[in-house]
Parts: sequence; structure tokens; C-alpha cells
Amino acid sequence: MEDRYAKLHKHFLIVMLMVTALILVFLVIQYYMLIRVDARYAGIHQAAYMKTYVFFPTLIFAASYIAVWQILDSPNIEAKWKDLATILYLWVLCTVGCFVCAESSVLYGSFTVPIALSTVYGRKWMCRVTEVICGVTLAQYVGTAPLFPTCGENYVVNVCTGMFLFVLCCLCNEILMEYVLDNDGAIRSHLNDNTKLANRLQRDPMTSLYNHTAFYDYLDTFVRNRDDAPLTLAVIDIDDFKKVNDTYGHNNGDEVILNLSKVLQRNCGENNYVCRYGGEEFAVIFPDVKVKDATKMMNTSLEEFRETKYEWTDKRITFSCGIFQMSSYTMTAEEFFRVADKMLYNAKQNGKNQCISG
Ligand code: GH3
Ligand code: MG
Ligand code: MG
Repeated sequence: MEDRYAKLHKHFLIVMLMVTALILVFLVIQYYMLIRVDARYAGIHQAAYMKTYVFFPTLIFAASYIAVWQILDSPNIEAKWKDLATILYLWVLCTVGCFVCAESSVLYGSFTVPIALSTVYGRKWMCRVTEVICGVTLAQYVGTAPLFPTCGENYVVNVCTGMFLFVLCCLCNEILMEYVLDNDGAIRSHLNDNTKLANRLQRDPMTSLYNHTAFYDYLDTFVRNRDDAPLTLAVIDIDDFKKVNDTYGHNNGDEVILNLSKVLQRNCGENNYVCRYGGEEFAVIFPDVKVKDATKMMNTSLEEFRETKYEWTDKRITFSCGIFQMSSYTMTAEEFFRVADKMLYNAKQNGKNQCISG
């Protein structure tokens, strides 16, 4: 799955850097304020406070920030693990926050943030993992908070508020998850429809080959983005096709067109672009094939096409073909096509039923 949230991850890192910096500044200020107004803090030595509540969290914040940054920056890590890394980073932040300010109900409630973020990514398993780790951590703090001197008399209210927020968030998660998955399904189905539509616009409905527009688009793209690889073009036209139509009817003429499309697809290799750019005019773009090899493929195609037996005639139907490998770096797509078409003209002039290359 593609990294749909790459932009979100970058913004996330910037916001998190600011949040952690704010928390650390707050912790330093808190020390100097609390030491004056709260008797429970009066006994705490400055060095001990700084070590436990500032230095230790800074170390954890910095280490986890660098780890998440590395994960988000790595092209080899799958998008789902990057998403999980951002959630876990938030969880670390909440865990450290609860540790340094065990008496605050706001911090107990902060576990709702990673849970809410897990919904955004639209993966049920990620929501469950987040709910479990946040729930376990919260329970652990609720259980151990009374052991710390900073545990205030509002402990029960704080715990109840934190628990209430946690359960509420998990329930909201369930509802949001359904909504996100529904939306995701709708977006995916639209994307699928768009891809199908774009594909249909490129194809000729009768033969399913690339149509006139797609042919010129691809030719232009290959000419523009040309590198050292040999770029070759074959232009094909069925011989005396008007006569086939006039003698055997349009439907049988269609059968011949369909047959040629299959013959070309069978013989021109998977990586080449077989197109029907006109009524009974075909072209093959060979993005990485030398003229010699392309000529071989076209001769095989001509042989197979010529040998086809039709129920409504004993006569052989043939085609003529011009093949040209691009030589000049300054050639445009139109010039390239014109030269190949000139080769086709030469083949027609030379008696048809042949391939001429240059
Ligand atoms: P040449 O050997 O010089 O190519 O002679 P030609 O008779 O094949 O002449 P041209 O290539 O100009 O013939 C084009 C004919 O192809 C005219 C048109 O009736 C026929 N044609 C074009 N599209 C279709 C199609 O989709 N089905 C059928 N049956 N005929 C088509
Ligand atoms: Mg023609
Ligand atoms: Mg023709």
C-alpha cells in the first residue's frame, strides 16, 4: 500500500517536536513554581527533580523522536509500520507525561490522543493494538500512582475522569472506524472506476489495442523521454483492403482487422505497444528493440497473417509495413512517424506484402 500519509507524518514530526519542547519548558517552570507553593515538592532536591523530571524525559523524547524520524524517512519501511510508529511515539509521550505529572487527570485522559490518531489510518488491527497498549499503561499508572509523593487527594476523581475518557474514546473509535472504512471503500471504488475509465479511453473497442490518441501520446512520451535504448516504430497497413470490404462485405473485413490485431499481439512481445491508430492501420512502438529485431517480429507477423485461412475466401490477405529506428536526437514524434510511414509507402510501391526497414 502506498504511503498515503507521508505529508501527515512530516507535519506530525514538526508538531511533536514543538509539543515535547513545550512539555520540557513547562516541567522546568513547574519545578520553580511548585517548590514555592506546594509543600510536597519542597523536600525534593533540585538536582534530583531535574534528573527525574527533565533529564530523563528529555532523553526518552529525543531517542524516540530520532527513532520515529528514521522510520518515517526510510523508503524501505512499509507505510503501515510508519503509521504505527507515529501512534507509538504519541503513546511514549503520554506515558512519560503521566509519569512526571501523575496527579493530573488531563494526562490520564491524554491516552485518547494516540487512540484517536489510530482511527485516522483506517486499520482495525492498529486501533486494537493502540487501545490495548494505552489501556494497559493507563491501568498501570492508576495502580502505581498512590505510591508516588506527587499523588494528590484528587486521585480518585482523576482516575475516574481518565478512565471515563479512555472508554469513551474506545467507543467513539468503533463508530469512527466503521465510517472511515466505509469512506475508504468508496474512495477505492471510485479510484478503480477512474482507472477503468482511463484504460477504456485509451483502447479501441473493437480490438482492445491502444487507439489513435493513446498511440500518439505514447509515441510522444517515448520520443521525449528517450535515453540510450533503441526506439523503433513499425507502421502497418492492410493491402487492398477496400477490395476485401467490397468483395466480401464489411463484417468479413472486420474479421481480418481482428485477426491482424491478434497476430501482432502474439508476435510483438509484451513490452511493446501495439496500436490501431486508424481503420486498417496499425503501429507498434518498440521502446527498447533494435530495428533488426523489430523487423524479424514484423516478418513473423506478416507470415502468420498471410497464412490465415478465412471461411469466406481462398485468397491470401497481406499487409505492408515500414520499420524505422530513431537515429537523430533532435527528431520529434511527428518526424519519427513520418519516416516510418515513408518506409511503409516504399513497401506499397515495391509491390506490397512486405516489410521495409531503415
Ligand atoms: P492499400 O493497399 O494501398 O492500402 O489499399 P487499400 O484498399 O487498403 O486502401 P486503404 O488503406 O486506403 O483502405 C482503407 C479502407 O479500410 C477503407 C475503409 O473502408 C476500410 N476500413 C477502415 N476502417 C474499417 C473497419 O473498421 N472495418 C472495415 N471492415 N473496414 C474498414
Ligand atoms: Mg490505409
Ligand atoms: Mg490499406
